Amino acid sequence: AELDTLDIIVLAAILLGTVAYFTKGKLWGVTKDPYANSFAAANGARAGKTRNIIEKMEESGKNCIIFYGSQTGTAEDYASRLAKEGKSRFGLETMVADLEDYDYENLDAIPSDKVVMFVLATYGEGEPTDNAVDFYEFITSESPSFSLDNDPPLGNLNYVAFGLGNNTYEHYNSMVRNVNKALQKLGAHRIGEAGEGDDGAGTMEEDFLAWKDPMWKALAEKMGLEEREAVYEPVFGIVERDNLTPDAPEVYLGEPNKMHLDGTPKGPFNAHNPYIAPIQKSYELFSVKDRNCLHMEIDISGSNMSYQTGDHIAVWPTNAGEEVDRFLDIFDLTGKRHNVISVKALEPTAKVPFPTPTTYDAIVRYHMEICAPVSRQFIATLAAFAPDEESKAEMTKLGSDKDYFHSKVNVQYLNIARLLAIVSKGKKWTNVPFSAIIEGITKLQPRYYSISSSSLEQPKMISITAVVETQELPGRGDPFRGVATNYLLALKEKQNGDPNPSPFGLTYEIMGPRNKYDGIHVPVHVRHSNFKLPSDPTKPVIMVGPGTGVAPFRGFVRERKKMVENGQAVGKTILFFGCRKSTEDFMYEREWEEAKQVLGDQFELVLAFSREGPKKVYVQHRLKERAKEINELLQQKAYFYVCGDAANMAREVNAVLAQILSSERSISEERAEEIVKQMRAANQYQEDVW
Ligand code: FAD
Repeated sequence: AELDTLDIIVLAAILLGTVAYFTKGKLWGVTKDPYANSFAAANGARAGKTRNIIEKMEESGKNCIIFYGSQTGTAEDYASRLAKEGKSRFGLETMVADLEDYDYENLDAIPSDKVVMFVLATYGEGEPTDNAVDFYEFITSESPSFSLDNDPPLGNLNYVAFGLGNNTYEHYNSMVRNVNKALQKLGAHRIGEAGEGDDGAGTMEEDFLAWKDPMWKALAEKMGLEEREAVYEPVFGIVERDNLTPDAPEVYLGEPNKMHLDGTPKGPFNAHNPYIAPIQKSYELFSVKDRNCLHMEIDISGSNMSYQTGDHIAVWPTNAGEEVDRFLDIFDLTGKRHNVISVKALEPTAKVPFPTPTTYDAIVRYHMEICAPVSRQFIATLAAFAPDEESKAEMTKLGSDKDYFHSKVNVQYLNIARLLAIVSKGKKWTNVPFSAIIEGITKLQPRYYSISSSSLEQPKMISITAVVETQELPGRGDPFRGVATNYLLALKEKQNGDPNPSPFGLTYEIMGPRNKYDGIHVPVHVRHSNFKLPSDPTKPVIMVGPGTGVAPFRGFVRERKKMVENGQAVGKTILFFGCRKSTEDFMYEREWEEAKQVLGDQFELVLAFSREGPKKVYVQHRLKERAKEINELLQQKAYFYVCGDAANMAREVNAVLAQILSSERSISEERAEEIVKQMRAANQYQEDVW
């Protein structure tokens, strides 16, 4: 494709803008506004752009494509990092590509002097991420139809693969494993090992770093690349828009897209476009002071969104003001936090992760995951911009020594701003290019919650059940606080006129950009899931959901209660719930009684309180006590559901179920485990775990 006039204007603007950036705008006064359309243009280009990867590579002069399949942004982030490193260390012409944006029939036409990387997250029950579904189906199909008649079909394709998974799930890293297998079968040549990162063990970043070095070595050998001294090159140009004030109507102050900026948001609402939903009511579920669990009713009646019992809702959080201030301060951006800037990709295949013109404040508050665990690779990058030699040495050490990094950073749950302040003893990091910050920090991600209402009972009102993340850490002054749940807590406190609101919560800008969220609103979208009640309501169900794992089961129980009220018959409905104490964190106690009134003997609540008796009792123990009954229900084709903690509980429940089957049916444990596997494959065993 040729450059159109607008592109040329934009490119010229970037060039001038870059000059302005490096001269801090001194040499340069803007008379007209050549940037006004730059984000619109980028979006427009996206709409009309090619889906042909070969065409894209040729037109942009690339020889290394990094495809990503990402759900929560980590895979996308790793893809960007590979792109960056490939370019700076080996002079590769890299580009990052969303799997959803291209067709795959011509993967066979990619010449052998190019390389394709796949960075693939596995989601939920071994599923591809939303953006990788089509690719996955294509590549793993019996015989994918390619554009040429090569034999083998992908004999020319050189590829690299890294997967992001979680070993606490049954299908660990199944995406990268299956794609790797499929590519091998099609005759493609893998370079290096197919890497696997494990979120379950908390080693994702380290697994990635450990995988990529030998991979680069193998790739350099295979493609005859020379390693060079990596110098930092910005991916984005930043232009100070001195002629614009933050209240100008075209300036984004946290609005997620143009429709929101114009005040005309409309559906479809999805991962790119949230619905600003009113919170109808919110209340506390725990009766202890030091821990909070929120129940919130989110009204979607003003939207065209719908949900089904068992789906997930995504909440789009903003960062707490306290952390935004800390971040702006350490990078010495406080003075110009409200300056208007435009950000443009300095090369055509990079994407600016937020709309502009905007302000530093809005970018940090609404678009950057500033509180997340720090990437060790980013620390190594930042060393070059340290404010003094001592800080530089410390950053280099942190960047290269994983154990040292872990002991200093992860143990304290430090975020980037806190870490930098400790390293430099408070000295500001004035030399860090803002582009490096955009590149090094992931996009702020929506958080998912298992919907705890029934769509049969309230089709337009979604409830969530969220425990507020607060952790005291020895050696740290203040507790670690989760981004989204403390934002929700602040909303709840405001809605209820709490006389003692959390001081941290008060720093959130919960009125949203231009006060658009006033009246207690929260940006959301719905994600459909496969976690569903049996279509035949007379089938028995066994649900295991301790803590907030009870969320979807509140929806399930309410759904069956509503069915009975409507005159339908329902099957046996057993819920195993566990928490610490009946007097502290026993959620929805009254609601279970109401359900019992309607469902009668068909409903049973089995409780496990871990801190009441002399011995800790968990849901797994209660399951074992009911072995006979559970086995009988499973023989009647009961559905078995587990929700909540993936790391320990879900795994143990799986093991206990196999033990139950083994003892009750007098079969070997191996055979019983096999049966549990079959139940999973047949959707008779379903998990909703995180
Ligand atoms: P975050 O800020 O995202 O922190 C979360 C965790 O990340 C911390 O506890 C910590 O372990 C780690 N972390 C963050 N920052 C750092 C750092 N700087 N250093 C080290 N570690 C760090 N939750 C519910 O309460 N109820 C539900 O029904 C529910 N359903 C879910 C369904 C699905 C499908 C998924 C994927 C998750 C679900 N969750 C649910 C979890 C929820 O999405 C959030 O993860 C949770 O609420 C915490 O979000 P947060 O923004 O408050 O915390």
